[in-house]
Amino acid sequence: MKDTSKLWDLLVVGAGPAGIAAAINARVRRKEVLVLGAEIGSSKLRKAPQVDNYPGLSGISGEELMERFLDHARGLGAVIEEARVEMVYPGEEFTCMTKDFQMFKARAVILATGVRQALLLPGEKELLGRGVSYCATCDAGLYKGKDVAVIGDSPEAEGEVNFLAELCHKVYYFPLYKGDVQVSSNVEVRLEKPRAILGEERVNALYLSSGEELPVSGVFVIRDVKPGEQLVEGLKLDDGAIVVGRGMETNIPGIFAAGDCTGKPYQIGKAVGEGLTAALSAVAYLDQR
Ligand SMILES: Cc1cc2nc3c(=O)[nH]c(=O)nc-3n(C[C@H](O)[C@H](O)[C@H](O)COP(=O)(O)OP(=O)(O)OC[C@H]3O[C@@H](n4cnc5c(N)ncnc54)[C@H](O)[C@@H]3O)c2cc1C
Repeated sequence: MKDTSKLWDLLVVGAGPAGIAAAINARVRRKEVLVLGAEIGSSKLRKAPQVDNYPGLSGISGEELMERFLDHARGLGAVIEEARVEMVYPGEEFTCMTKDFQMFKARAVILATGVRQALLLPGEKELLGRGVSYCATCDAGLYKGKDVAVIGDSPEAEGEVNFLAELCHKVYYFPLYKGDVQVSSNVEVRLEKPRAILGEERVNALYLSSGEELPVSGVFVIRDVKPGEQLVEGLKLDDGAIVVGRGMETNIPGIFAAGDCTGKPYQIGKAVGEGLTAALSAVAYLDQR
């Protein structure tokens, strides 16, 4: 992993088409760019067997298009690292904390995290911050010695489960994916589906598909793609999409957004165009400062 003491001009969260287009255009303008992606590229785009609507490259496979995007950005000197960003903290400069507690600093940030069309559980929004958490790294300490449930939609959540198991009295794990589950032996893996998070002032139980109300003090929901407001406190959203202006600026000065995370249509061309616009706006923001 890179030197985390460096102050980057621009940090891009997400290495899909939007993030890579942003990185390419910021490099063309000679900015120091770090891209942090939970994966290198976009598994979404890689799944497209054939892309027929990207200008000039009719019929190209998603896999090849993604590789070409990455080669282009790397060729221009963008640094692309695999790391999941957990939180972005605004300030005089921005600090991005990754899942493994590394801190990266940048003068501007572009969010290009894509979209996940997942419904929230009943009670999830209402009890957010009052027993519902999206980040074990950030909130585990609040649940020391308590019973918690973790809902994970990919094996990536298992690291967070094991981390919680070191601190909590009891951890119930609800994997929402198929395949092997590898968690510590003191974690109870449950195969029922969580249906709702219960509680008035605070979370007190998880309601399961079996009809059981499992008493817990906290519920960690670990999704592959976090909605924007879980990444940056105070970020303005509309129906789950990050609200942006024509320059792809968000309501937080110095933070821009591009691609599927800003709303429909969910298309490569739109993601790439927004990535370009966000990069140019970020460059203008940096140059003004
Ligand atoms: C099967 C399929 C076929 C498709 N075919 C077409 C097509 O033919 N034409 C077309 O125009 N579009 C197509 N699309 C849509 C297209 O793939 C998306 O619109 C495009 O990939 C959006 O790019 P993006 O960069 O905004 O988001 P994504 O491609 O979703 O990339 C976002 C990246 O950010 C990463 N990320 C998320 N959260 C974090 C975090 N906290 N920290 C670090 N990284 C993070 C994700 O892992 C992901 O890699 C298809 C989609 C699918 C699923």
